[in-house]
Amino acid sequence: MKEEIFVVGIDLGGSHVTAACFERQGRIHNKVFHDINPLEPPSEILNNGIVPAVEKVIKESGLDSSKIVGIGMGLPGTLDSNLGICLFSPNLKWRNVPVKKPLEKALNLPVFILNDVRSATLGEKYFGAGRGFEHFVCMAIGTGIGGGIVANGKLVLGGCEGAGEIGHITIMPDGPLCNCGNYGCMEALASGPNIARRAREALLKGEESIMKHMVKNLEEISAETVNLAAEKNDSLALRIWEETGRFLGLGVSMIITALNPQRIIVGGRVAQAGELIFKPMREEIKKRVKMIAGDYTGIVPAHFKEDAGVAGAAALVLEKLGLIS
Ligand SMILES: [Zn+2]
Repeated sequence: MKEEIFVVGIDLGGSHVTAACFERQGRIHNKVFHDINPLEPPSEILNNGIVPAVEKVIKESGLDSSKIVGIGMGLPGTLDSNLGICLFSPNLKWRNVPVKKPLEKALNLPVFILNDVRSATLGEKYFGAGRGFEHFVCMAIGTGIGGGIVANGKLVLGGCEGAGEIGHITIMPDGPLCNCGNYGCMEALASGPNIARRAREALLKGEESIMKHMVKNLEEISAETVNLAAEKNDSLALRIWEETGRFLGLGVSMIITALNPQRIIVGGRVAQAGELIFKPMREEIKKRVKMIAGDYTGIVPAHFKEDAGVAGAAALVLEKLGLIS
């Protein structure tokens, strides 16, 4: 029998850090949350947020600490994962922050870091909707749209770890300005805040909708508001989802044409709208993808919801240490 070992997966969010001990088979043993102050300098966040979260999850696990063999962490942004440096994270406002070395020193365990959606892709590959597939693409739709590509059974990072930034595929040449500086990115039209923006703009033009009565002022409208209104068959909300699905289908068609994946795995908070976006997405893909069968690629929801970050980080450590295949 293989020796029982565990790893710790860390998910660094805007206001708190989640750390979870994982069994080698991908099951969570225990999980803790620890508040962070995102305004603190990165070294303080590492020392006062991440290190105590890991110490706490190990202590509360009740496990002999020798059974914990490594730590993984997903970070929003661009990284040099070999050097263990976060090059740029617009969300965290980090530039050139060493992450791996300080954590290894403080915790005395090997630490591996990777872009958060790329590591979530590993979570789906080993423990989720990517199991048994050699070619698939994950996308996470939330505040932004991130992605991860698996081809020939391996996660593709590209020349400088930029492969998978699929939210920044241009789908409307003169479309709205994106956070990245380009115009008309898929993210600038179909991420959570942009779904909300499109709903707000329609209401400002005078379109009728129950969404008007669901919030005190239009600024409060979120993708969640649009989802709730769609559940009540509100015609504007249903149209916003339909258009969102078509925007996503347009972007995904290019990915399918370039990579011929077996599956597109869709996660993130916005994906919880389910068939409201999946159905128009599939229709748009069928319309656009002609070189292979338009319905060859399965469009499926991600297995992991709120645990996507920690599960991916755990899969990253297990893969790096050669403990999983
Ligand atoms: Zn962009």
